[in-house]
Amino acid sequence: MDADVKEKYIKAGKIASHVRDAAVKKAKPGVKLLELAEFIENETRKLGGEPAFPANLSLNEIAAHYTPYKNDPTAIPENSILKIDIGVHVDGYVADTARTVAFSAALQKLSDASRFALEEAIKIVKPGARVAEISRKIEETIKSCGYRPVSNLTGHGLDRYFLHASPQIPNVAVTGDVRLKDGQAIAIEPFATDGRGFVRESSPVLIYMLTGRKPVRNMDARKSMEFADKFGGLPFAERWLPFDSVFKSRLSLRELKEKGILYEYPPLKETGMVSQHEHTLIVGDEPLVTTL
Ligand code: MN
Ligand code: MN
Repeated sequence: MDADVKEKYIKAGKIASHVRDAAVKKAKPGVKLLELAEFIENETRKLGGEPAFPANLSLNEIAAHYTPYKNDPTAIPENSILKIDIGVHVDGYVADTARTVAFSAALQKLSDASRFALEEAIKIVKPGARVAEISRKIEETIKSCGYRPVSNLTGHGLDRYFLHASPQIPNVAVTGDVRLKDGQAIAIEPFATDGRGFVRESSPVLIYMLTGRKPVRNMDARKSMEFADKFGGLPFAERWLPFDSVFKSRLSLRELKEKGILYEYPPLKETGMVSQHEHTLIVGDEPLVTTL
């Protein structure tokens, strides 16, 4: 990997880990998700990064892809479990990292299961390591803690302005001979659950990505398209759109969806409680965890 590119990955990682840990300290029952999301995104910019995606603040059965909407009154409940998943980019080079905060002893055990799995998985990372080996280790570690891995959520490669590059890094044992390459940027993200081990799409959609441009006559839709285009193919939040009204935001997005230039990230929901831990790494003989 180019030294200049590596520097940018390292800088993004430092900002992401700092902001993530500060957010973990702030996350307490009664705190509003909106306040936490704005803190994460503002801190990221203050430290010289840009959000690579909206702060994902997913409670309880929601595994991923919840971000607050404008004036969202949701506060962290007592006895809940919260996944804080944040992305930071520097010139398109991304750090993707998550921690879980648990507000009961039982849920703390669930949180630990995904943390142990991540720690065990990282020990295997080196050039030539089989992805299947990492996946098997994640599944085994989570099951040894008495939980299930979420089988349809995976880790992934990272590329410039591109969040879900190859390879996929599943959280359950897989077959195949995909191997890690020297200098590759990857994110490993085990999810543990006391539910069925499988998420389904839920609503409302609050995170989107623009996939192209088309002539749009509706003024609000055009305004949304121009706004979304600034993220260079990275996801954005409905909340970020330049309208005071949620109604206007949603109408403009619906128009872009109908034009076929909008990708949706619906909240992903389990039947049970879910925990997640994630780090970004650069594969090498000494793997570099950029988000430690
Ligand atoms: Mn993530
Ligand atoms: Mn990720």
